[in-house]
Amino acid sequence: MCRRMDSRLRGNDGEIGVVLELNKQSDWVARSLRSVWHPCTQMQHHETVPLIPVKSGKGAWLYDHEGRRYLDAISSWWVNLFGHANPRINAALKDQLDTLEHAMLAGFTHEPVIELSEKLSALTGHVLGHSFYASDGASAVEIALKMSFHSWRNNGKSGKQEFVCLKGSYHGETIGALAVTDVALFKDAYGPLLRASQTVMSPDARNATEGETAEDMARKAAADVERLFIERADKIAAIIIEPLVQCATGMAMHDPLYLKLVRELCDRHSVHLILDEIAVGCGRTGTFFACEQAGVWPDFLCLSKGISGGYLPLSLVMTRNEIYEAFYSSDVTRGFLHSHSYTGNPLACRAALATLQIFEEDNVLAANRIKAARLTAALQPLAQHKQVRNFRQRGMIWAFDAINTTPDFSRRFFATAVEHELLMRPIGSTVYMMPPYILNDEEIDGLAANTLAVFDKVMAG
Ligand SMILES: *Cc1c(COP(=O)(O)O)cnc(C)c1O
Repeated sequence: MCRRMDSRLRGNDGEIGVVLELNKQSDWVARSLRSVWHPCTQMQHHETVPLIPVKSGKGAWLYDHEGRRYLDAISSWWVNLFGHANPRINAALKDQLDTLEHAMLAGFTHEPVIELSEKLSALTGHVLGHSFYASDGASAVEIALKMSFHSWRNNGKSGKQEFVCLKGSYHGETIGALAVTDVALFKDAYGPLLRASQTVMSPDARNATEGETAEDMARKAAADVERLFIERADKIAAIIIEPLVQCATGMAMHDPLYLKLVRELCDRHSVHLILDEIAVGCGRTGTFFACEQAGVWPDFLCLSKGISGGYLPLSLVMTRNEIYEAFYSSDVTRGFLHSHSYTGNPLACRAALATLQIFEEDNVLAANRIKAARLTAALQPLAQHKQVRNFRQRGMIWAFDAINTTPDFSRRFFATAVEHELLMRPIGSTVYMMPPYILNDEEIDGLAANTLAVFDKVMAG
């Protein structure tokens, strides 16, 4: 057995047949299921749901080992903005690879992290002047929570220890981030491990009753925040919000007025506003930062996912100068003593710089408005479908809710979508699209037509 493995690795002539065999699609699947524990997956489901080994990617498409292709309609979990194997990001990374792959960011600094921080600060009109780096979205949330608490403490208000989140919120799955997440499926099993947080009403426009507008929902939900702040703002460090779209709970969208009202309440009651733009930042909602649509800036802004163009793990927390000043001292313990090994990784920062450059050079936000209008028009048969409710869109996010679905709707949809060259994973009975920003007209029309075909097939049972 061992000898055979050896000769396979060496690719002995006599074994070439075996080597080719090993590259078969079904072999990759079997090997993956034997050794890889896949995320967010009940592994037993793979007895019936296909696992697709991706061989390569180009533009909006992923290709498997048998030459089948899949349109990445959800940007590989909302991270990819300008397609797979993007020539401009690839070129930047190749250059960076030959210059500096990594150096620690304590005591040292480097061009990519400096330029990225300057560019991001400029995008906020220098209101959020400092960026603190990590690798995953959940780590950025942990950092924002710790920084908020610690900055109050440094300012003599150590009693402010609580965090407020929204119903249906999702901020990641590490212990601290999960404590401000309100998705039962991810949270319930770990309840005993989590610190309690306060949960307020969601401004989800779908909850509007007959005659109520999205703005009415925003006012109602803000009133719920006000009630809580009046009662216990002295104990609350921060409220954390996914601005405009609560993605993981099922693309729940709300009116920008909500953010404006909560910003006012935070100012009035001395509570920090943390905006988690990990999913909705980087142009996803139509503006570069979602909060621009409400005309407000938070005290902490978390970015990840799209910021590296979907290439490398990178996350960061941008913060106001007042927060930064609260840590600036001759006393080491007043500093923010938090780090991750790959903090500010030069390759990841360089991918982010290339991503920001594409935004500038291609006037991406304006181009996206045209693409979005075309996809919205092409999706009208679904919007009007009698088994569809709450068709909604903001920027480059589309969603609708299927009515009277079976519990395995999402898995059946995924499997059927794959047969129609589509990568889509509904959340419960909510079907959504979050495509990369590079679809051409043919791809847009194909996405709409195939989604309708998949939906009809799945709903027919
Ligand atoms: C994905 C996501 C996170 C967590 O990011 P990870 O990189 O998966 O840890 C946090 N908040 C929001 C809003 C997200 O969509």
